[in-house]
Amino acid sequence: MILHPTYDVNASGHLTAAGLDTVELAREFGTPAYLLDTDAVRAMCRLYKSAFHTFFGPDSTPAFAGKALCYKGLYRLIAEEGLAADCVSPGELVTAHAAGFPMEKVFFHGNNKTDADLALAVDLGVGHIVVDSPDELGALAQIAAGKGAKPHILLRITPGIDPHTHKKIITGNVDSKFGMAIATGQADDFVKAALASSSLVLDGFHCHVGSQIFDIEPFRDACDIMLAFIARMRQTTGFEAPILNIGGGFGVRYTERDPMIDYRANIQALGEEIDRMCALHGVKKPAILMEPGRSIVAAAGCTLYTVGSVKTIPGFRSYVSVDGGMPDNPRYALYQSEYTVVNASRAADRADFPCTVAGRCCESGDLLAEGVSVAKPSRGDILAVLVTGAYNYSMASNYNRIPRPPVIELSGGKATVAVRRETYDDLIRLDV
Ligand SMILES: *Cc1c(COP(=O)(O)O)cnc(C)c1O
Repeated sequence: MILHPTYDVNASGHLTAAGLDTVELAREFGTPAYLLDTDAVRAMCRLYKSAFHTFFGPDSTPAFAGKALCYKGLYRLIAEEGLAADCVSPGELVTAHAAGFPMEKVFFHGNNKTDADLALAVDLGVGHIVVDSPDELGALAQIAAGKGAKPHILLRITPGIDPHTHKKIITGNVDSKFGMAIATGQADDFVKAALASSSLVLDGFHCHVGSQIFDIEPFRDACDIMLAFIARMRQTTGFEAPILNIGGGFGVRYTERDPMIDYRANIQALGEEIDRMCALHGVKKPAILMEPGRSIVAAAGCTLYTVGSVKTIPGFRSYVSVDGGMPDNPRYALYQSEYTVVNASRAADRADFPCTVAGRCCESGDLLAEGVSVAKPSRGDILAVLVTGAYNYSMASNYNRIPRPPVIELSGGKATVAVRRETYDDLIRLDV
């Protein structure tokens, strides 16, 4: 195993993903290519479902955050596994709908949904629209009334937690483009306005503290603050929220330096905190939702590239250039995100060649990794970047007019194309 159970090395010294030889997959499907071990994705869905059932109660559901990875086949998988879904744009809604996803299990987010987006959500029968602002509340009420519809809503509340500043800095994130803050009193008015609307059905509250969080504390703080808010709203308005959605954000192990995460233990700890707070405030335990994205798909995915050149600059460093880069994975360029890189063609050899992995774009910032070590590659070797299942394909662009790679699903020893590779015709299709 390398980093996650999906990855290993076979007798030919090649990296395997879900038991399949990645060098052979590269030959069959070309590079760059995204691979996704869908059995591992299903295992994560089941882990979440079972832990939610045990520790949050039978009405609680994980909702997969499609912004981490979005294509029709994945929504079909998520539907089969019985998860709800979190969509953040009309494009994601349309993808879910086209896949036959049960739209009543969709939560629709975003800090600036247009009137057209809201109308689409009502028309598609989205289960819950997560209303972000009083402006949006007014617009949705009007749209719903015009259609004779009565959509169910949650309100996006800003609990004021900065997950990366540690230790209960509870004003840390009041300054956010998302939601209405408890600390400023604006959340209270938001709830009253929602309750006053005759064309909307308020079902509860939503919050989201951040992403790639390894610590349980920010989630515990969010539960404390949100349950105290639910209790106070019951006192002041009589409304006792039946749903509390505490967002996504559990971290994922990208390198050996990242800690292992026991998701089930985290959910258990949160469940205990929620029970304690409900008892403390004397409120009925709401149905708990969370929206994991990264932690469901990241580890199950990797990207295969072909090495084009290996250049050592004496006194400086070695560049290994590959046939992809920031168009298929902008995360290093955006956030200096660290990855584990493996020479898939020589995965049994010592990884003793320190290098910078560079993409093919005309842009010096187009790097995939710096300061990594791989078995010394040569032109034609297959390089794998591991743990790219989340925020890679969903963030991919056509920068430098480069076609997007395909998504190849791996399951039960078979590889199938789930999203085909873009062609040059695809690239010019929209040009008039
Ligand atoms: C980004 C986001 C998620 C998913 O976060 P992950 O870190 O991928 O688990 C869930 N809910 C909301 C509202 C988000 O913005």
